Order: sequence, then structure tokens, then C-alpha cells
Amino acid sequence: MHPNGHEEPNICIRCGYCCLEIQCAVSEKMYGEKRTCPALIHDSRDYSCLLANQFAPELFIGEGCDSKLNPIRVAKIRAPLPPLKV
Ligand code: SF4
Ligand code: SF4
Repeated sequence: MHPNGHEEPNICIRCGYCCLEIQCAVSEKMYGEKRTCPALIHDSRDYSCLLANQFAPELFIGEGCDSKLNPIRVAKIRAPLPPLKV
């Protein structure tokens, strides 16, 4: 729950934190063990996965994110929102 009463959205904000922290199993199978996943790309705004279309179910694409240990996501999701209208 957001401090001002909004439900926190269960969305992926493409911050890249998960992939930067640990290489996933799909990546390990494709590229072997790597410090940074070769499929992780960044444009000037967001991170994306080059394997997202090919391995959507295995990578849980579209299933959102509820990582509570990710400081980047927590900061963005909990950024001040306008007060609830009642
Ligand atoms: S929001 Fe969650 S699933 Fe999306 S890139 Fe960030 S840590 Fe990964
Ligand atoms: S393959 Fe995609 S989901 Fe897996 S670590 Fe690399 S960028 Fe992240």
C-alpha cells in the first residue's frame, strides 16, 4: 500500500534491477555464465530483454513485478502521487 492510500501497482517499470542483480536461467542456457546478461539492453529510458518475445512464458513476460527489495522500483512506485479523490 502506498503511504497515501493508493494500492501499489503490480507493474514492471523496466528498471533492469532483476537482470542486473542475477542472470536468469534462460540467459545461462543461451550464453553460459556471464557477469551481465548479453540480452539485457538499455535505451535512454528503459531496460529490455532481447529474448522477451522468444521466451515470453519462461521469462514471465507480462506478469508484472512486486519486488519489495528493489530500491529503484520502490522509489518510483512510492513517488508522491496526487491525493485520492473521495
Ligand atoms: S520492475 Fe521488477 S521485473 Fe521489471 S525490470 Fe524492475 S525488477 Fe525487473
Ligand atoms: S535473458 Fe532477459 S530476463 Fe534473463 S537476465 Fe537476460 S535480460 Fe534478464
